[in-house]
This record gives sequence, C-alpha cells and structure tokens, in this order.
Amino acid sequence: MDSMEDTQVARTIELNDGTRMPVLGLGTWKSSHLPRTSVQGAVEAAIAAGYRHIDTAHSYKNETDIGKALRSMMQQGVIRHQDMFIVSKLWVTHHAPEDIPVCLNKSLNDLQLDYLDLYLVHFPVGLKGMEALQASGKVKSIGVSNFNILQLKRLLALCRVPPAVNQVELHPYLVQKDMIEFCKSENIALTAYSPFGSPERPPELFRGETDPHKLLDDPVVADIAKKHRHSPAQVLLRYHVQQGIAVIPKSDKPHHILENTKIFDFSLTEEDMRALRGLDRGWRACMLEEVKSHPYYPFV
Ligand code: NAP
Repeated sequence: MDSMEDTQVARTIELNDGTRMPVLGLGTWKSSHLPRTSVQGAVEAAIAAGYRHIDTAHSYKNETDIGKALRSMMQQGVIRHQDMFIVSKLWVTHHAPEDIPVCLNKSLNDLQLDYLDLYLVHFPVGLKGMEALQASGKVKSIGVSNFNILQLKRLLALCRVPPAVNQVELHPYLVQKDMIEFCKSENIALTAYSPFGSPERPPELFRGETDPHKLLDDPVVADIAKKHRHSPAQVLLRYHVQQGIAVIPKSDKPHHILENTKIFDFSLTEEDMRALRGLDRGWRACMLEEVKSHPYYPFV
C-alpha cells in the first residue's frame, strides 16, 4: 500500500507483479437480470463518479453491455483503457487448457478490449494455462477467486507465476482473519466481494423465506455510521479499504454508486474495527450452489 495519513488510505493497491489495482471497483453480478440498458448505465454512472475498476465475469452474461459503456466513455474522451482496471473471470465450463483462450477471447470481444487488467479463475480448479495468457499480453495480471487457504497453498507450490489477487467474500459477518493474514504473508492482494452481504442474491441462496443476515441493517453498523455521519454502506466499504483490501460493491442506482465513492473522508477507529469484526458469524451469502458437487468445492 501507499503511505497513508489520518483519514487517507491508498486509492490503489500494488500487486505482486508491479501493477496497481484501484481499491474501489464496481460489482456487476446480477446487473444482467435487469433491463439490458441498466448495466451499461451503471458502468457509465460509475465512471462518471470516478470509479476506475470494474468487476465482471463470463458467467455474469453482461460483458456486451459493459463493453458498450466502456466504448461510449472512451469515445467521449472520459477515459482511456490505460486509466481503467477491468477484471473478468474464467468460468468452470472452460478449464481445459485449449478452452481458456476461447473464454478469454469471448470476454475481450464482448468488452471491446484488447487486453484485461486482471483475469481470475472464478472457481478453484487451477492456474495452469492462465500463465500463458499473461505471457501473450492479453492479460496484465492473473489471479484467482474463491480459493481457500489449502487451495492457495497447493497452487503456490505448483505455479510459476503466483496469483496477484484472491477475490473472496468478505464482510463483518465473514471476517476470514486467517485468509487475510495468509494472503498478506504471501503478497497476494485481496478483493472483497459481496461487501453488503449480497442482499439481492438469487432466491435459492436465501435458504429460507426471509433473509436473517441483513448486514446493511445491522444495529452495530448503524451506530458506527451514525457516529461518523456516514451511511451503513459507507462504513462497510471503509472497513475493507482501511485494511488495504479492495472492494467491489454492486449497484445500478446512480445515487448509491456515488454514495459508495465517499469512503475516503472519514476513518474508523480501532474500537469501530473491533466492533465490526466482533459481528463475525462465519456466514456466507454466496455458497456457489451450482458447483457444490465439484470435488474442489472450496466452502466445506
Ligand atoms: P453486494 O455488493 O454485497 O450488494 C449489492 C446490493 O447492495 C444491491 O442490492 C444494491 O442495490 C445494494 N446497494 C449498493 N449500494 C448501496 C448503498 N449505498 N446503500 C444501500 N444499498 C446499496 O452484492 P454482490 O453483487 O453479491 O457483490 C458485489 C460484487 O462482487 C458482484 O456484483 C460481483 O462483481 C462480485 N462477486 C464475485 C463473486 C465471485 O465468485 N468472485 C461472487 C459474488 C460477487 P442497488 O443496485 O439498488 O443499489
């Protein structure tokens, strides 16, 4: 991380391959369930609000619309690709070495880009074949997602290029202290997904009729938010960036997209951080139900 003082935290994280990842990104999962123009509008609103990191995936089926937003903002001269940090992910349907470039090329084509800034293995199967992509220049950095510590250890023992990033679910209900310490010790940056507990995740992930884990409504979060005159969402985002962890909240509402950028003008105290960590209940919003039967299912 860059040096920091007072409320200032670094806006970018230096990855182990020397590239820099903005700490705040826009999540786009489920935006594809909305009218087709919504994800395009959300990405355009995010870029206008100052986001320079966009998180997507082959499996989100929204890369064409994100590509339109990027193209439009580039044509208007608002951004160049080199100003942006675009992340996509290889889905489990394309893990055979010969299929990996097929999945990457489809994402590049849909996003209307020549290269990705970060390409993640979406699910713990392997990084073989990914290393070659980095050498091809079509991917600046390679990383993983949803790998547990054991899977990271196995990977580190085998790979030539260590993953730059592990993107995992992190929030006060899933603190993952061991994962944070392990990644720090191995110089693997973390990106926190579902920072609000993914309140609009698909109904099958609720495992019941009502959601008992409403992180955005948690009274401890609300009290801290009130004290700092910020919103619960801003507290939940600040919690990560203050730990040097990137965070990718999803929103398609321009007022939320803007609100979620205002996390660099206040600081959580050690006591606030302790109270937030004290909410840990080992609860996951995203169990990746569709791959539960896979032998490398990470959340066992
Ligand atoms: P999330 O970011 O935890 O929550 C998104 C929800 O919070 C939306 O319903 C959004 O509603 C609402 N929201 C956003 N800003 C808000 C604010 N300021 N105040 C109140 N509500 C607010 O959920 P997520 O989509 O699961 O996670 C974020 C991103 O992480 C995903 O979109 C995806 O890019 C990534 N992810 C990756 C994986 C993986 O396997 N690697 C898994 C899950 C997620 P509005 O849209 O109405 O604002």
